[in-house]
Amino acid sequence: MNARHCELAIVGGGLVGMALAFGLRGLGSRLAVLDEDDRARRASRGNFGLVWVQGKGMGMPGYASWTQRSAREWPRLAADLAQETGIDVALRQPGGLHLCMSRDELDRRVALFDRLFAQPGFERYDLDVLDHAGVARRVAGLGPDVAGGTYAPCDGDCNPLALFRALHQAVGRAGCRYRPDSAVESLEPRGTAFRLRTRQGIVTASRVVLAAGLGNARLAPMVGLAAPVTPNKGQILVLERVPKFLSLPIETLRQTDDGTVLIGDSQQAGGSDRWLDPAIMAAMAARAVAALPQLAGARVVRAWAALRVMSPDSFPIYDASRAHPGAFVATCHSGVTLAAVHAHVLAPAIAAGRVADECRPYSADRFDVRAAA
Ligand SMILES: Cc1cc2nc3c(=O)[nH]c(=O)nc-3n(C[C@H](O)[C@H](O)[C@H](O)COP(=O)(O)OP(=O)(O)OC[C@H]3O[C@@H](n4cnc5c(N)ncnc54)[C@H](O)[C@@H]3O)c2cc1C
Repeated sequence: MNARHCELAIVGGGLVGMALAFGLRGLGSRLAVLDEDDRARRASRGNFGLVWVQGKGMGMPGYASWTQRSAREWPRLAADLAQETGIDVALRQPGGLHLCMSRDELDRRVALFDRLFAQPGFERYDLDVLDHAGVARRVAGLGPDVAGGTYAPCDGDCNPLALFRALHQAVGRAGCRYRPDSAVESLEPRGTAFRLRTRQGIVTASRVVLAAGLGNARLAPMVGLAAPVTPNKGQILVLERVPKFLSLPIETLRQTDDGTVLIGDSQQAGGSDRWLDPAIMAAMAARAVAALPQLAGARVVRAWAALRVMSPDSFPIYDASRAHPGAFVATCHSGVTLAAVHAHVLAPAIAAGRVADECRPYSADRFDVRAAA
């Protein structure tokens, strides 16, 4: 098959790859996104849809700033997507709640924020610590077992499937080429370009961005990068639609724009399967009913498990290859939340041939891994 050339190839059409493609859509047909087929394991189709700030950044204060910046950039992303595609991604940022089911849990939550905010360089945001009555003022029908919680005005959520569809449509309308069923099997630096062997033949590109989620672990060393990511399983329960009762997202429970209630999300490191675990689902359901007893009567209509893309310290990996200039990697576990900075900050920096200054702390050099030269 003849080699096809593009100026920039993004490997992976999940939320990270498509947010970057959106930010680079000015390249038009000079940009290609090479993706797997519909059987691919995609975190982007199984996530909870939070645009979330509170609690993040322990051990890396810059990550809290990066996340807050994305939350601030999100309204522009949502507006641009609506204008270019007509798709409303249902962004709302009314603030978000984290619930604590015992006094002890609340004390630990407060201690966590004391440590988080005390980190040098931490960009502080507003946070209210609420007792039971304080939470009840924000959530009708609160269960008596809720001891309290934390509320941050910067938190919110969106419809992540609408986001995914809107990014794909906008990138397509800009004339960029999306190639499904084009899993990249190997990647080879060739002089000043890269040669990508895909299921559909050879593609050459002057620059390449690895945004293949869990697939980055295998691909990155081929261009002198490292992405030691592993799967972390999360499960989500979907309840039937009920009349609107929740006006803001709770970190593990939210009502979507169409009235569906989602309960999630669990965290299981290591597992690479997507089997549902009944014991974990039962625990999630019990905790949700304790928080909001009215949910006891709602039917579960669906459940799924999906795999997060997790680095060893849970923070993103953004890197440019020193051995092979023009090759980049981008991966993270909060691709919904970070979609706006990926599109607005990281993508323009990559277009200029570097990672954004704010992204420099996220090089894989921080792990004890040596990328192949
Ligand atoms: C249960 C759960 C809940 C979550 N909740 C939230 C949340 O509330 N808020 C939030 O911000 N984030 C959340 N996330 C995380 C978010 O979904 C991910 O950060 C995001 O989807 C990662 O996108 P990605 O593009 O890196 O990976 P993926 O979605 O996995 O996409 C990777 C893409 O690369 C392709 N690919 C892989 N290998 C190759 C190859 N060799 N060649 C070509 N293509 C390849 C795959 O087919 C896929 O399309 C959640 C995740 C899970 C699992």
